Amino acid sequence: MQKQERIERDFTARDPEEQQEFLTMTWCNNCMQVDLGMVEPQEYELDGVVYIEGKCKVCGEPVTTEIAPEGDEDWPD
Ligand SMILES: [Zn+2]
Repeated sequence: MQKQERIERDFTARDPEEQQEFLTMTWCNNCMQVDLGMVEPQEYELDGVVYIEGKCKVCGEPVTTEIAPEGDEDWPD
């Protein structure tokens, strides 16, 4: 069994506008609708992919947004 390490990241370190974007651009598997929004966002990296996980604003089910790597990893240290 392969162990995948989940690396916690600081979502609040992102640009406020960017945070807002991620919090509103969501897909809820339960509601089957886009852009319902999420609350309690948590950001982490798993297997080289960055995810933002939160709860659907409408139904409270977990929603996960996968951030496609764009090659410009200019994170402030
Ligand atoms: Zn939902």
